[in-house]
Amino acid sequence: MDRLFKLLFIVCLATAIPAQALDAHGSKDQSTEVSKFLGDLKSDNSVYMVTHKIEFFAGLAKGQTPKATIVTCSDSRVQANMFDRAPEGDLFTIRNIGNQLATAEGSVEYGVHHLHTPILMFIGHSRCGAIAAVGGNYSKESAAIKKELDTIGIPKDLGNLEGVTANVHNQVSLAMIKFSEEVSDGHLTVIGAVMDFADDVHQGAGKFHVININGEKDPDKLANVSALIAKHKAKPVAPKVEKKADSHDKPAGAEAGHAKPDAHDDHAAPAEHAPAHH
Ligand SMILES: [Zn+2]
Repeated sequence: MDRLFKLLFIVCLATAIPAQALDAHGSKDQSTEVSKFLGDLKSDNSVYMVTHKIEFFAGLAKGQTPKATIVTCSDSRVQANMFDRAPEGDLFTIRNIGNQLATAEGSVEYGVHHLHTPILMFIGHSRCGAIAAVGGNYSKESAAIKKELDTIGIPKDLGNLEGVTANVHNQVSLAMIKFSEEVSDGHLTVIGAVMDFADDVHQGAGKFHVININGEKDPDKLANVSALIAKHKAKPVAPKVEKKADSHDKPAGAEAGHAKPDAHDDHAAPAEHAPAHH
C-alpha cells in the first residue's frame, strides 16, 4: 500500500511541473519540448524505480548474460517491450537505420564473441523509412546518411514490406557468413524477424513475425528449430578458413557489408516475398 501511495504522489507531482517559458533566443517550442521531455522522463523513471524490486536492480548490477544480440531499426515505433515484457538483461541491443550488420559490426561482434549470446536476431519493421529511402533517390542526403543507406543491398523495385523482408534476409545471410564458425558449431542461431505494427502482413497489428532461422525462410519449416540447428551443425554454411588457434576472435568468412550475399549460397538470395499471408 505504501508503494502505491508513493507512486500516486510521484505521478501527481510530475504532472504539476509547469512548462518553461521562452528561452534567451525566444525559442518557445524547443524549451517547452525539452522541459516536457525531461518532466516526463523524470516521472516515468520514478514510476520505474518504485515498481521494480531492489532484487531486480541487484541482479542487473551483478553483470549481464543476455539471451540474444538483437539488431533492430532505430525507428521509434519499434521497441523491445513489443516482444519482451522485461528486456533488461535479456537483450544486447544494437540499433541503426535499416537494422544492419554492416553499420554496427563491432557492436554485433561484441554481443556474439564477448557476451556469447546464443542468438543473433535482425528485426525489420513495417513502413521502414530507411527501406523507402533506398527504394528512391537518396543522392541528396548527407555523406554520413548515404554511407549507411548504401549498405542496404536490395533491389529498387520492391514495395516497402517486400524491401523490409529482403533486407532482413540479407542481414541474416551476411551474419551467417561472418559468424559461419559459430553457426556451424551450433553455438549461434541467426534469426530474422519483422515487427508489423501496421498490419501490412494482414495477420494482426503488432504481430512479430519470425521469417528466417539460420537461412531457412520456408514458414512451414521454421517451427522445427532443432532441425534447422542440426542442419547447420552437419553442414557448414560457408567454407572454413584454416584458422583454429585464434578461432573465437577472428571469424572466418567474408567481411560483412562488403560481401555480396547472393554470391554465396542458397541462404543468400534476397527474398522475393514478404512474410506469408495466411
Ligand atoms: Zn526502419
